Amino acid sequence: MNFPPMLSHQVPYGQKSTFFTRRIAVSLILLMSGVTLLAMLMVVGIAWRQNEEAVKQESFLLHNAWQDARQELMTNIRDYAFWGEAWNHLHLTMDKVWAFEQQNLGPGLYSEFHYDGVFVVDGEGRTTYSVVNGQLDDLQLESWLGIQTAPLIARARLLAKEEGATSLNTLIGSTPAIVAAAPITTGKVPGLKARSGPPSVMVFVSRYTPEKLAQFGRTVGVMNARVPGNAQDTATEPFLLEAVFDGMPVVIRWDSQQPGRALLLLLLPVLLLAAVMLALVTRRVIRHAMYNARLCDERFLQLIHSQHELAVSEARFRDVAETASDWIWETNAEGVLTYLSRRFTVATGFAVEKLLDKSIDAILQHDTQPVSEWLFQHRQEGHRHTLRCYSVSASGEKRICSLVANAVETGGQISGYRGTVSDITQEIESQARIHYLSQHDALTGLPNRLYMSEFLLSRLQAQPTAEKPLVLISLDLDHFKPINDTWGHAAGDSVLNEVSHRLRSVLKAGDLVSRQGGDEFIIIVSDLNGEHEIDACCQALLDEVCRPFQLGQQEIFIGASMGIALAPDDAMQADELLRLADIALYKSKREGRNRWTWYSAEMAEQLVLRREMERNLRKAIAGNELKLFYQPRYCLRNTRLDGAEALIRWEHPSHGLIMPDKFISLAEETGLIIDISDWVLHRACHDALGWPEPMYVSVNISPVEFRSGNLAQRVASALATSGLEAHRLELEITENITLENPQSALEVMQSLKALGVKLTVDDFGAGHASLGYLKMFPFDGMKMDRSYMSDFPHSPQALSIVEGIIGLGKAFSLTVTAEGIETQEQLQELQAIACQEGQGYYLGRPMPLDRFRQLLDAPCDIVRS
Ligand code: C2E
Ligand code: MG
Ligand code: MG
Repeated sequence: MNFPPMLSHQVPYGQKSTFFTRRIAVSLILLMSGVTLLAMLMVVGIAWRQNEEAVKQESFLLHNAWQDARQELMTNIRDYAFWGEAWNHLHLTMDKVWAFEQQNLGPGLYSEFHYDGVFVVDGEGRTTYSVVNGQLDDLQLESWLGIQTAPLIARARLLAKEEGATSLNTLIGSTPAIVAAAPITTGKVPGLKARSGPPSVMVFVSRYTPEKLAQFGRTVGVMNARVPGNAQDTATEPFLLEAVFDGMPVVIRWDSQQPGRALLLLLLPVLLLAAVMLALVTRRVIRHAMYNARLCDERFLQLIHSQHELAVSEARFRDVAETASDWIWETNAEGVLTYLSRRFTVATGFAVEKLLDKSIDAILQHDTQPVSEWLFQHRQEGHRHTLRCYSVSASGEKRICSLVANAVETGGQISGYRGTVSDITQEIESQARIHYLSQHDALTGLPNRLYMSEFLLSRLQAQPTAEKPLVLISLDLDHFKPINDTWGHAAGDSVLNEVSHRLRSVLKAGDLVSRQGGDEFIIIVSDLNGEHEIDACCQALLDEVCRPFQLGQQEIFIGASMGIALAPDDAMQADELLRLADIALYKSKREGRNRWTWYSAEMAEQLVLRREMERNLRKAIAGNELKLFYQPRYCLRNTRLDGAEALIRWEHPSHGLIMPDKFISLAEETGLIIDISDWVLHRACHDALGWPEPMYVSVNISPVEFRSGNLAQRVASALATSGLEAHRLELEITENITLENPQSALEVMQSLKALGVKLTVDDFGAGHASLGYLKMFPFDGMKMDRSYMSDFPHSPQALSIVEGIIGLGKAFSLTVTAEGIETQEQLQELQAIACQEGQGYYLGRPMPLDRFRQLLDAPCDIVRS
């Protein structure tokens, strides 16, 4: 998948939301933590400030109370010292009765005002009156207070003029105390006696014991006011310093009420709880947000992926649309074209723009209904519908098309149609061609075996009658193979084509001629009445085939053998009918070709017999039932026995001696000829070894052996096994061998010649070969077919033919052997016209080996048997 390029500092695609949500979450956590911390700090700050304020307030109150206490002490002492009676009883004289007992300055000050010490110090500084803790005492003020009191007394006397009294803070031991002093004056009582010297000074001392100090604190709402118990307590807040006249200040400690602490105790848990709750909620929110972010990222990725896929898909569609041989179309619900792929122009030659907004019928037509109508009939979405229609291209060419359509549904309504159009013209034509080819022969254009089978079946289904039979003719060309071999396959093909035309020309329209392969044809004719018409048809066919074929400057002749089978007379099954026609054809061939044969039940019997014979022949080879007869061959010039032709016989245990013409062709057809010929070669070579040199033996070789491929090895093996010299063996080969496959025949003959054996043309003149082969093939001699002897020597024509053949042999340096010499006359005439060799009943019939041996031993050259 290709994403847009991403810079290194950028967040990868698909993680952006997660990344930013995480950042927001972190910020949120920090913010929340900060706010919570700030709130806590503020609460703590407020608490601290509250505590501070409380301490200040308490300190202020305590201080004021202390000052009030001092003021009150001063006020009270002023009352007592600014009194004429006191002047009289305490300054001028010391009247302790008046003072103490009469309660004027007695225990009431202790019990009522809690003044721990009440003293009067006279002008000389002596303590003249002292009441301590409500008890009259004679303690000196200085010793009781434990401080220098002279400055105090002096200050009291000094301040007396303005304020009338003075006070100071002091510590008695460790107990703080307020000491107030006032000079005793006459008050406002006039006329009192004066006394020289400084006035006596009245001193009140209020000691603040721990209980009293605590009580003092409580009066102003200060808890546990006290003197610090130790240095640490002294250093701890809050404390109040009250200056003393001299010496260490008075320190008062108390327990502040600390309202901030209460606030903290109240608010902090709430805040903490709120923070925890907030943290939990935040965690949940963040987790939810992260989950959503991840989901968002995933969806984003999916989206990108989908977009990519979509882009790829679109590109693919575009490519397919443009490269496919089909063109793609789209119409609206009314069948008006809204899209055509560019391929359309290539396929039809029309510009896309020309056809857009036109009905689909403008480009596609159908024989029975407009294409748009067909579209409307197939409204089911998701179902492909195919229609074979056609279009006419810009060049006017009619093209067969396959239209595939699909209805497009939008919101439950058919909103249009889309699909493809393939040009299937070629396909249709190819199919038709394939169909045609599958049923016709490519060379001749005739129906082939397949077509023929179907045709035959259909004709048989029509139930032919004995009066109007279905005639099946199996036709095989005679002597066609040599055309291929001699003139080449092109010539063979043109002959086959010509034959096809000629056969066709004989038949009527409803008849059939098919080529089965090679030079075999089947002809099916159905409206011939009676044997006469069928014979006439066969004759016409034969006449056509026998007419010369022109190959260049050359005229060629072939023939035909035919076999006829009738339905329903012979069979009603196609296969059976074909088989029977083949049997009849076979008979035609066996009986000399160029003819037709009606199938008859006996033929099948003969066929059965042949099969049986084949079986027996196999047994004969193994069971040593084959024998060799030898027919002497003479040199006619001096009538000397030169050699013999080996001729096979089958000594059948029950049928007696069977001649070769009864089983050789069967052996050739079945391939048994190879085994038979091997036996003959070995036997003949072996037998000839016992004959006087240079007497030779000639062995007949079948054309089938020439095709088998290993004839030379087999001959070599027979020579080697027997030890016979190669020049004493002659092989008789019919001239037809030169027609079938001249090149391979030549090669086989050359390898035979290389062995040193002689090669002779057997039955010369009986075949169809042209004389050219005599020059081309390495023959040593020719055996004139015995048919030439029938009118010889009486017929001048026969005589001249024989003379011609002898001349021909001489011309080609071939030894000419006359076969079939049956009379002395023939022998003499042949001798007269200088035929080199002779063979025939007159000279000697084929005979068993022992008799031939006797012949060898006989004194006379020519022995008539
Ligand atoms: P062929 O090679 O032309 O053999 C000569 C045939 O002519 C022999 O018939 C022989 O008996 C017969 N014949 C010889 N002189 C006369 C005569 O004066 N008058 C008449 N009317 N006939 C005469 P046969 O033995 O029946 O052989 C027939 C053919 O069978 C042979 O014709 C040869 O083509 C074939 N044949 C015989 N033996 C073999 C064999 O071992 N192998 C193969 N492949 N073919 C063989
Ligand atoms: Mg022969
Ligand atoms: Mg012969």
